[in-house]
Amino acid sequence: MNEKRLPLLILILPVITITLTIIAFIYFYIDRQNKVLDKSLDYIEKVYIDKTIEIKRKDINYLFGVLENNRLNTIKELKSKLRYRVDLAYSIMMSIYKSDKYDKNLKNVIKNTISVMRFNDGAGYYFIYDMKGNCVLLPPHRSAEGKNFLNFKDIAGNNPVKAAVKIAKTKHSGFYEWYWYKPKGYNYSMKNEKMFKKMGYIKYFQPLDWFVGTGEYVDDEIKEIDNRFLLFYIAQKNYKNEHVVLLRDIETKPEILASTKGMKLKNLYKEGILKKVKLMIDKGSLSATVKYPAGGNSYYYDEVYFKYNKNLNITAVIDLQLQNVESAIENAKKNFKESFKKDVRNTILVFVFIILFIGILSMMLSRAVSSMFWRYQKKVEEHEKKLSELASCDELTNIYNRRRFDEILNYEIGMAKRYKDPLSLIMFDIDYFKKINDKYGHRAGDEVLKMIAGEVRKNIRETDTFARWGGEEFMLILPKTDFKGAVNIAENLRLVIYSADFGGIGKISCSFGVSQFNDSDDKNSFIERVDKAMYRAKELGRNRVESL
Ligand code: GH3
Ligand code: MG
Ligand code: MG
Repeated sequence: MNEKRLPLLILILPVITITLTIIAFIYFYIDRQNKVLDKSLDYIEKVYIDKTIEIKRKDINYLFGVLENNRLNTIKELKSKLRYRVDLAYSIMMSIYKSDKYDKNLKNVIKNTISVMRFNDGAGYYFIYDMKGNCVLLPPHRSAEGKNFLNFKDIAGNNPVKAAVKIAKTKHSGFYEWYWYKPKGYNYSMKNEKMFKKMGYIKYFQPLDWFVGTGEYVDDEIKEIDNRFLLFYIAQKNYKNEHVVLLRDIETKPEILASTKGMKLKNLYKEGILKKVKLMIDKGSLSATVKYPAGGNSYYYDEVYFKYNKNLNITAVIDLQLQNVESAIENAKKNFKESFKKDVRNTILVFVFIILFIGILSMMLSRAVSSMFWRYQKKVEEHEKKLSELASCDELTNIYNRRRFDEILNYEIGMAKRYKDPLSLIMFDIDYFKKINDKYGHRAGDEVLKMIAGEVRKNIRETDTFARWGGEEFMLILPKTDFKGAVNIAENLRLVIYSADFGGIGKISCSFGVSQFNDSDDKNSFIERVDKAMYRAKELGRNRVESL
């Protein structure tokens, strides 16, 4: 692996690792959260319907409880009203009787007095019977007076007059119930009229062996109180997705007492809700899904809960419109999903920040490593340069060594051949160097070598190559220099060395060989020839230049 890639790797690797980890984490997180979401959404849906129905069930139970209580109070109030009225009539009858008990016309006075005592806008009246069941006073039906009603039966099969006689005989006063026509002012016939439940109270009037009494239509009282309460009840409820309808007489002639959103009977019929409720009325309460057309081929589905209270004769129908419920559920789901998405978004944002943070850290680290590497690289390069210098330089004289000389000579021969340029070599050897070593020591000899190298270097061109060939033998490669020029240079160098000052050693001379490269030459023949020339200079007396 390339070290230069390391900083990049330091930058990329943690970022990639962490990014992948985070992506994996987010993936698993989202996957898990999605499962949680699905479960939650299912739960919302299931619970919503159950809870709504359950709340309404409790509502209705409460409502019925209140109504039953109301009804008891209503009956109680009705009874005390009846008792009060009858007591009033009784005391008037008694005071008339006491004031003139021997008046022959007494019965008529009493009858006339009581007959004008009316209430309920003239609809209410007192009746008087004797103990044999003969009608004494019946203000709305004066024609009935004098007739015997002991065996009269109402639609329910009761003998109301017989029952009243029995109360008068045994308890002197008391309540009883029967069914009777409803008076419409004073003009009404007893034929073809419906009978309604009445509650009555009678009191035995002992002086004349009569009983006096009055009654009220129970349903009217109850209905009035019920309706008032139900309207109030419905009005104060804030129903959204469900209708509540309260019906009376569901079995015979259904009548809406109160409803939300103006629900009409025909809606209940149309939607088949009433039919369903009627079918299940015996069960008291039940929930069921009702399907009804919504136009075209589509249907509405409603969850219907109803409760029938026989005692009250009221049926409560709760119609939970699943369409609306679904949209409510959809809303709940949407909200849930949105908050869920927000959570995920925030999580991802945090992750992105973490990645950025780690990225920046990695970048900084990478830069630090980069610059460290750069410095290291520079050092290595310097080192390499030094090493190559060492490899190509002679340690003592600091000029090129023989290895480097060979390389350069090869190159220059190539160049000379290619460009047909002249190329010359100079070889020189220090004369009687052994003696210097012997006389002044090896160290001094080394100094001489250094000094000669220094002198020569000062006096050659930059393009010339100067190298140590062996112990005290040196070579010069002179590119673009012919034989003549090389001889001149050699002669010059000979003089430079010979005239140089070597301290206490005195004068030192060198012997030079010069040669020019020719077409038939190769490197070895070229060197051999210059070596020969140098030896000829030695042979011919040293401190001279010879060329071949
Ligand atoms: P001539 O060349 O004139 O014939 O005589 P010479 O004394 O120079 O002869 P020769 O070539 O036989 O001796 C060379 C001597 O140079 C031998 C050796 O001790 C000495 N020498 C070679 N290399 C070094 C060196 O690096 N340092 C020192 N001090 N002496 C060296
Ligand atoms: Mg030598
Ligand atoms: Mg020598």
